[in-house]
Amino acid sequence: MNTTNHSGDDMPKSDEEWKRILTPEQYTVLREKGTEAPGTGALLHEKRAGMYRCAACGNELFSAETKFDSGTGWPSFDKAIPGSVNLVRDESHDMERTEVVCARCGSHLGHVFDDGPKETTGKRYCMNSVCLAFEENKTLDNPNNA
Ligand SMILES: [Zn+2]
Repeated sequence: MNTTNHSGDDMPKSDEEWKRILTPEQYTVLREKGTEAPGTGALLHEKRAGMYRCAACGNELFSAETKFDSGTGWPSFDKAIPGSVNLVRDESHDMERTEVVCARCGSHLGHVFDDGPKETTGKRYCMNSVCLAFEENKTLDNPNNA
């Protein structure tokens, strides 16, 4: 099920370890492929410049520049950081969807759909807010300060 490459360093390996570092809600969504209730996410209306990281491992996933208001109730992005996520075919719930997982730790993040903004990529990465950790970019001029 987990088709990603673990980097094998400080990554938690067992469910027990994940439960220790994640909140119960994060554990349900990230590790058991749950979905948070729409409209509830803390980052839904976040509009500052910055970086959205994997809440489980800190991997950089989405730049704030790619976030848009999809009206779905979940944080939505039209593009992921190259190499940051893996896409997995998901046929659960009698639907054919494309699951988005963190390329580093394999955690479930959400799904990607083809109804995103036409003027950019046409993709809609529909993410669970609870899977993301936002880091505000206070020094846009300095690329080394990421
Ligand atoms: Zn991760």
